[in-house]
Amino acid sequence: MKVTKMTLANGVTYLAIPGPSVMPARVLREMHRVSANIYEGELVDMTFALLPDLKRVARTKHHVAIYITNGHGTWEAALANIADRGDHVLVLATGRFGHGWADMARRLGIGVDVLDFGNHGTYDFEKIRNALSADKEHRYKAVLATHVDTSSSVRNDIAALRGVMDDTGHPALLAADCVASMGCDRFEMDDWGVDIAIAASQKGLMVPPGLGFVFFSDKAAAHQKSLKIISPYWDWAPRANPEMFYELFCGTAPTQHLYGLRAALDMIHEEGIENVWKRHHTLASGLWAAIDRWGQDGGTMRMNIQHENLRSAAVTSVHIGAPLGTQLRKWVEANMGMTLGIGLGMSTPQDPNGDGFFRFGHMGHINAQMLFGVIGSVEAALCALNAPHGSGAVDAAAKVIASGV
Ligand SMILES: *Cc1c(COP(=O)(O)O)cnc(C)c1O
Repeated sequence: MKVTKMTLANGVTYLAIPGPSVMPARVLREMHRVSANIYEGELVDMTFALLPDLKRVARTKHHVAIYITNGHGTWEAALANIADRGDHVLVLATGRFGHGWADMARRLGIGVDVLDFGNHGTYDFEKIRNALSADKEHRYKAVLATHVDTSSSVRNDIAALRGVMDDTGHPALLAADCVASMGCDRFEMDDWGVDIAIAASQKGLMVPPGLGFVFFSDKAAAHQKSLKIISPYWDWAPRANPEMFYELFCGTAPTQHLYGLRAALDMIHEEGIENVWKRHHTLASGLWAAIDRWGQDGGTMRMNIQHENLRSAAVTSVHIGAPLGTQLRKWVEANMGMTLGIGLGMSTPQDPNGDGFFRFGHMGHINAQMLFGVIGSVEAALCALNAPHGSGAVDAAAKVIASGV
């Protein structure tokens, strides 16, 4: 007979990582259906009606193409519509994700210059200004930015980036990776002058992994027409302006996912996108107050991004020191039924596996009682692991949440 041990982890588990996020029951219920007719009728009408509601989340009046893919797929989709082999792009990296997009561009034969701003902060706009000014022949077809880098949890100022690009008179397209931020942090595609924004279903948009979105401006659409070769599967033009329904997905539609997306967009717009951003910001502020307390009285936990106005409301990366980060994650998973995110791209010679870092995902379908589950679980872990930490974290978070409602 197998000997079992008492556990406190049984009950509803909570995946508190930066994607996939918690899927709402309403989304899952809508997906749980037999296949619908893909030639005509309800599914076809429902799908076309998704497009304006998606654009409202990205705050654009321009175009959107939907792909059956994840975030990595949208990187390639965007590049396929931006640059030919031999063209150049400028990539701004503030963590792992900018480098990921840059690698993909290189492997497509695109010339890539990377400005690396490290893992712990945001852009230095003077360096960006200098790089654009130095590009006198306007070789860069696009500047690839990451709105929220999910590894460092920095939130970069995309409107300010547009300002710098305009100041230099550089005609490059501005492309923003919003996979982590969309539906969590304020993002204003049209007002900020963003030409291309990418997103995926499984983070703030609360739909299981499988759908990728590329939003693009009229300027980006016109530029795309000048390319010599556009990969047929990634070509955004027929997807954004289909003559036939099947062109929306270059083949069979992801039927069940689309019903899930319908439900998620309804939930976002019923709440109001401004309120969705505010909810995320208030909950994140509560978490940050708790982390500040844990870091006192000899505690070693520190937020990776020091300046509050540079932090994302979708994800928080923290340093606690190796091997405590990994121990803490394992402890809460085994004993609390909650999974925290691993540190990503944070390994150093002293900490080759990045065991000193971990991440809180707080994106999408989360509310205040879930946040307190996270904070209480981490508090218990710090006690169980005999990790020094300041007291009063729950109290500090409670004050922020109480004043935020
Ligand atoms: C998650 C994420 C990606 C990659 O998405 P996948 O669906 O895992 O391919 C890209 N960029 C950012 C900013 C992300 O957060």
